Amino acid sequence: MITVPQNPDEPKECAAASQDAPASTVLEPGLYLVATPIGNLRDITLRALDVLGAADLVLAEDTRVSRKLFEAHGLRPRCAPYHDHNARAKLPGLIKALQEGARIALVSDAGTPLVSDPGFRLVRAAIAEGIAVHAIPGASAALAALCVSGLPVNRFLFAGFLPAKPAARLRALEALKSVPASLVFYESPARLDATLASMAQVLGPRQAMLGRELTKRFESHYRAPLDQLAALVPEEERRGEMVLVVAPPGEDNAWSAAGLDAALDDALSRLSLKDAVDEIAAMSGQPRRQVYQRALARNRRR
Ligand code: SAM
Repeated sequence: MITVPQNPDEPKECAAASQDAPASTVLEPGLYLVATPIGNLRDITLRALDVLGAADLVLAEDTRVSRKLFEAHGLRPRCAPYHDHNARAKLPGLIKALQEGARIALVSDAGTPLVSDPGFRLVRAAIAEGIAVHAIPGASAALAALCVSGLPVNRFLFAGFLPAKPAARLRALEALKSVPASLVFYESPARLDATLASMAQVLGPRQAMLGRELTKRFESHYRAPLDQLAALVPEEERRGEMVLVVAPPGEDNAWSAAGLDAALDDALSRLSLKDAVDEIAAMSGQPRRQVYQRALARNRRR
C-alpha cells in the first residue's frame, strides 16, 4: 500500500482520482518532472498526459493554474501544492512516499519544472535516496525564445532572472560579459527598461531579441541592438511574459556597418527599395527606419 502525503488544503476539484489515463499506462515508481505549456494549452506531450493521468499524486506550484490545464485535457489527477514556501516542510513526507513506491509527478505553472521554478530541492533529495527521477520534457520559454531569436543557438547560457537591485544586476552582467554564448534571460515587464539599460551599459550594443507572450494569442518579437530595443516596444506591449536573448560578444555589430551595407547592396540589386529594406530589416533585426535611411544612402550612390 502506497501512502502519499495528505494535504488539508487540497482543493476539492483536484482531489478525485484520475479517471482518464489510458488503461495501458503503467508507471514505474519514482518522481516525474512533467513539462507543461507556456501559453498554448495544446503544447503538451502525449506522454505528459499519460503520466499526469496515471500518477498517484501531482505536485503543482499553484493547483488552480494547473487545474485549468488538467480540465482542458480531461484529466482529474489527485494534486497538492508544492512551491517555494512549503517545499522544505513537504520534503520528508514526499521522500517517504517515494521510498514506499509512489509515482509522483511535479508540474509548475508553466514550462519545465526547476527552470526558474520549484523542484530542485526535491530532485536532489530523491537522487540522494536512490529514487528514480524521470524527465517528461516539453515546453520551456527559454528554448522557445532562443529558437525564434535569430541569434546563435549552437552555444547559449540560460541566466534566469537578473537581480532586481541595480548594483547586483550590474555585477551579474559583468560576470556574463565575456561568456562566448548567446545569453537567455527571463524578465518582468516592470523591469524591462532598467534591465535593458544595464545590459547596454555592461554588454554594449549587442543584438538582442525580446520574445513576448510566446505561443499565446498576442505573441510578439522585437529585435534590435540592446541600446535601441526599449524604444521599439510600444506601451501596450509592456505587459505579459518576456524572455530576452542577447547575442554573444563579437556578434553585436555584425550587421551594423560593412555587413549591413553589403547585404543592402545585394538586396538592392535584386529588389525594389521597399522589398530590400523589408528583407534586410527582417534578416538583421535592425529597426526598419534605420535600414531604410541606410538603403536610401546606398541607392543614391548607385
Ligand atoms: N519553468 C518555466 C519555463 O520552463 O520556461 C519558466 C518559469 S519562470 C517562473 C516564468 C518566466 O518565464 C516569466 O516571467 C517569463 O520571463 C518566462 N515565460 C514563461 N512563459 C512565457 C511566455 N509564454 N512568453 C515569454 N516568456 C515566458
